Amino acid sequence: MTAATARKQALEIWKFGGASLADGDAITRAAARIAAHGGPLVVVASALGGMTDLLIAAAGHAVDGRMVEAERAAEMFQSQHHAAARSAVKDRAALADVIAEIDRSTTEFRELCRAVSVLRHLEARTRDAMVCRGEQLSARLLAAAIGSSRFVDALDVVRTDDDHGGAAPLIPETGVLAKELIKPLLSRGVVPVVTGYIGRARDGSITTLGRGGSDLTATLLSRVLGARRVVLWKDVPGILTADPRLVPDARLIPELHHQEAAEVAHYGAKVLHPRALIPISGTRIALHVRSFINPDIPGTEVTARHVEPGFPVKALAILPGQAVVTVAGKGMVGVHGIAARTFAAVDGERLSVSTIFQGSSESSIGFTVAESEADRAVASVSKAFRHEIETGLIDGVSARKGMAVIAVVGEGMAGTPGIAARVFSALEAGGLNVVAIAQGSSERNISFVVVAKEAPDAARRVHAAFQLSKIGGGRARAAHQTDVVLLGFGRVGRALADQVAALDTRRQVRMVGLLDRSGFVFDASGLSRARLLRLAKQKDAGRLLADLGGTRAGAEAALAWMAEHAVSRPVVVDVTGEETGDLLLLAARAGFHVVLANKKPLAGPSESYSKLFEAARTTGRNVRFEATVGAGLPIIDTFNKLEETGDRVRRIDGCVSGTLMFVLSEISAGRPFSAAVREAVERGYAEPDPREDLSGQDAGRKGLILARMMGYHGPAAAPDDLVPPKLRKLPLAAFMDCLPTLDDEWRTKVETENARGRVLRYVVSATPRTVSARLVAVPIESPMGAATGTRNIISFTSDRYRNEPLVISGPGAGPAVTAAGILNDICALSAR
Ligand code: ADP
Ligand code: ASP
Ligand code: MG
Repeated sequence: MTAATARKQALEIWKFGGASLADGDAITRAAARIAAHGGPLVVVASALGGMTDLLIAAAGHAVDGRMVEAERAAEMFQSQHHAAARSAVKDRAALADVIAEIDRSTTEFRELCRAVSVLRHLEARTRDAMVCRGEQLSARLLAAAIGSSRFVDALDVVRTDDDHGGAAPLIPETGVLAKELIKPLLSRGVVPVVTGYIGRARDGSITTLGRGGSDLTATLLSRVLGARRVVLWKDVPGILTADPRLVPDARLIPELHHQEAAEVAHYGAKVLHPRALIPISGTRIALHVRSFINPDIPGTEVTARHVEPGFPVKALAILPGQAVVTVAGKGMVGVHGIAARTFAAVDGERLSVSTIFQGSSESSIGFTVAESEADRAVASVSKAFRHEIETGLIDGVSARKGMAVIAVVGEGMAGTPGIAARVFSALEAGGLNVVAIAQGSSERNISFVVVAKEAPDAARRVHAAFQLSKIGGGRARAAHQTDVVLLGFGRVGRALADQVAALDTRRQVRMVGLLDRSGFVFDASGLSRARLLRLAKQKDAGRLLADLGGTRAGAEAALAWMAEHAVSRPVVVDVTGEETGDLLLLAARAGFHVVLANKKPLAGPSESYSKLFEAARTTGRNVRFEATVGAGLPIIDTFNKLEETGDRVRRIDGCVSGTLMFVLSEISAGRPFSAAVREAVERGYAEPDPREDLSGQDAGRKGLILARMMGYHGPAAAPDDLVPPKLRKLPLAAFMDCLPTLDDEWRTKVETENARGRVLRYVVSATPRTVSARLVAVPIESPMGAATGTRNIISFTSDRYRNEPLVISGPGAGPAVTAAGILNDICALSAR
């Protein structure tokens, strides 16, 4: 790239944090990334990881007279820089220069330590002069590792006020110096590498901008140099919904408004210096927080755009090490200007207050400050109210240490009702006590104080209450709706979609997702009825979801993806006819309720059956399966009601196959077997290959489901197969042609039973210890014998219904009634 093309592109500022400059390898990687960048660039460097802590600790040892420890720290400082330089700087002359500089700086540091240990006094300005070398050496090192770059000491560029240890930059003066020193380098195509964190006051003394101050150096330089973008390279993927060290399932926030980020920073999320947003607020400069480790992910963009107003809660910030200072007294109501005088006193000590609380009774006012400053705060406020304390108007000023402030941050939050309530019910559920609450006047946060050791638990609970780990989390109120994801979208699925759309809206059941074998369609805010109908039509025309605006994915990936979203009371409904056991297990583990019309997952190996129910139990979810037996008839429901009311169901007998009922009742009335089977197929009662019904497989599965519900653990029944062995393997057409050869045999059977006042029925029987599926002869006048058509009949024999069983009968097949059975399960879940 020539200097001329570089000039035309927009300027960027890249800051590398301590973790990104941990050692020689990291520096080499940073240098390579810088060298590969195509446009004008200013780099800001923090000290190598841990070095600022080391220097501060050494200064502390020195002032306490522990020179041996201070010396040891100085040695470590020197050797770590040597090692990093030897590994990252390839040019020999440049390496020699850097090593000489490391040695010079370490010697100077030792001298400062000695001076401090003699004086036994450590002023903030001295400490700043001691710690500034961390950045000075890292920036030199990085510049030498890059090659086509130049070290720039911020002491020559960044002007600040004289608040040592936490200085504020002076923007206009810094602007003049930056233009003088940095602009010419840029126009020559050189990358300036500037020390972060440090600056110089007007009196010439060295200052630091407060811990984490390199973030501020970067935004400051972007402002004064007119950059378009600042990138902060860190050891996290970006700004997360909470500190991942405390809340492990914190999620990356892709976009955040300037003000929201400022709030997150202000409340102590270490990821951004508290004042880093000040130089760029009100500008169009974008700030990106990105992963040094994984530069392929885009990270967080902090912008001037307002994002996602529907999800007011964006993040939590947790500020540990706080003390609550309280001014209290019954006479306070009458005292003039308490708040103003309190904060004037605190301000006079240059203490920074994180949160202010005022009790509704007005008999106390409180604020939080850093624990280390609590005593000073108490002393200065007590002094300000000396007179009122003497006269008893104010009881006193006290500090409670060991506290943490947790701020719930998001734009427009304080104006959204229900947030505080949700925070507090989450805390209450965990038995956590809130010491104080402040609703920020900014409308961008609600903060509360808890005992520090409870802060991680509190943060996790509030994080979970707003579903912040999920995409679309952060809604103000807990949603009461039930979100349905459909597995399979055939006739039953469509009937269900219609019935859901026709539900009373107070039920708040929505379809949010559809899956077929090609992929899925998902909308967290609900798929409209019109869209569902359109999809149904297109599916009828043979198309697949992936080609209808859906996403191509396997079912497992699709479910996992949906579970990532802030869906509310999610239910997965299986209307396929496939072996979906593993998939449903995954869904239950991901927190979905499971509703089945599909029998296969419940009629497979008993181990997978138990696993599914076990998984649901551990995640507090339910598995419901009303539609697997008798379609919409309340079979499972009746069983549960009997048992819940103290009855014991001893056995269940049922004609549970519509096809078999149709065929057997028709031949009992004198029709040939072949004609009955043909009509069952033509009317769509039977499967396209009627042998699936005639084999008794399907009825057998239903029997097993009923038996398992009653506590049966044994093997599946071997159902009576109505297809003779020699016809089982024939192609379908050949089988249909052979049907009339069976007519005579069936006619004989029917006539024999008829003569004894009996008719043939296919009956499944289930008890807690047995299960069977048989062709049997029953009395003509019995309920089963009297039934015709596709009717299902299920009878319960229980302690209460011993002599005369409780019989449920009705249509047991068809899309509409099956969907009704499913809907019954969904509504039961949503009513919980
Ligand atoms: P740098 O290397 O740039 O100085 P920091 O170490 O100061 O970076 O900031 C990153 C650290 O901030 C992370 O390791 C993380 O533990 C902490 N952190 C606190 N709150 C958050 C948050 N909301 N998002 C991301 N990181 C956070
Ligand atoms: N090195 C300084 C610190 O550790 C500044 C920074 O990292 O931004 O606080
Ligand atoms: Mg930092």
